Amino acid sequence: MKKRIIIVGAGMAGLTAARTLTREGHSVTVLDKGSSVGGRMATRRIGDAVVDHGAQFFTVRSDDFGQLVHEWTTAGVVHEWCRGFSSDDGHPRYIGARGMNSVAKYMASGLDVRCDTLVFSIARTSSGWIVQIDDATELTCDVLISTCPVPQSYSLLYTAGIELPEALRGTDYDRTIALLLTYTGKNSIAAPGGLQNPDDTFQFVADNMVKGVSAYPALTLNANPEFSRKNWDLSLEQQHELLVAAGKPYLRGLTIVESQVKKWRFATPKVLWPEYFWSTDDHSLLLAGDAFKGAKVEGAALSGLHAARFVMAN
Ligand SMILES: Cc1cc2nc3c(=O)[nH]c(=O)nc-3n(C[C@H](O)[C@H](O)[C@H](O)COP(=O)(O)OP(=O)(O)OC[C@H]3O[C@@H](n4cnc5c(N)ncnc54)[C@H](O)[C@@H]3O)c2cc1C
Repeated sequence: MKKRIIIVGAGMAGLTAARTLTREGHSVTVLDKGSSVGGRMATRRIGDAVVDHGAQFFTVRSDDFGQLVHEWTTAGVVHEWCRGFSSDDGHPRYIGARGMNSVAKYMASGLDVRCDTLVFSIARTSSGWIVQIDDATELTCDVLISTCPVPQSYSLLYTAGIELPEALRGTDYDRTIALLLTYTGKNSIAAPGGLQNPDDTFQFVADNMVKGVSAYPALTLNANPEFSRKNWDLSLEQQHELLVAAGKPYLRGLTIVESQVKKWRFATPKVLWPEYFWSTDDHSLLLAGDAFKGAKVEGAALSGLHAARFVMAN
């Protein structure tokens, strides 16, 4: 039986679920509050430069994800970046050819994806769900899959009086404060253009031009969870000042042209739910995303894939 399915979230989990279900002939609509698809696989433009400011790369461990990545590489959407940052450890790191967001754009093509669409409440009907959008419109479906970070999914479920297991409800996330900047001059970050955990402040520093996603010089400096938590409530100006000061080793000899501070409240889950997804007893509402079983880009894709398979089987 073909189902009418609504997916909240056009990140890797939601798009993988949507593609899998659409290919099987189900009627799928993806809703995202963001102005573009990708969620935490985010790429921005600063002037003419292209800047990845969420996920910086991804790895492949499973056959299922390997097949997806093979499709992306064949389509030219993704390519191998490197096999390690301080040394070659033999494990490929992949990136979107025009930024991480290009992978999500590829996944979304041909799907019914509606951006700038905030879901703010859901309600049960006798046969499924009503999804209420912030423009006061309503959509109905047989099955609803929410792929937002768990606290955001939980706030939706709360509007329908649905409880989550306590351990899942309490899923906590590390935060990330990021400094993004364009510059002139020559920086000291050698090929492949990425530094992982280079010091006490940053978890990743990337030169988007050396990385190959930007035609113009641009750096991403993602602060680590400790720095981000400690300085979360400071003003953007104070955070900017601290990050520029801590980033001095990577900014030496450069002139900053434009810079921005960006914040991820739900960057990476601290603890993972042991299953690929969570479902209500009647199987009409599922939660999926990177907090389920696997983490990171691959975990999000696998969660979306398994949630879709479950919907098809039930
Ligand atoms: C700074 C940073 C660095 C990272 N680095 C890496 C890395 O190098 N490698 C790696 O593999 N992973 C990395 N990750 C993790 C990776 O980005 C995520 O695990 C993955 O992208 C999560 O995908 P998802 O689909 O589960 O969630 P998301 O990408 O968060 O998608 C959820 C979507 O739900 C939408 N949404 C939320 N609430 C609503 C609502 N009410 N209505 C409509 N839409 C809604 C959001 O807008 C979002 O687009 C990083 C993450 C961050 C933040």
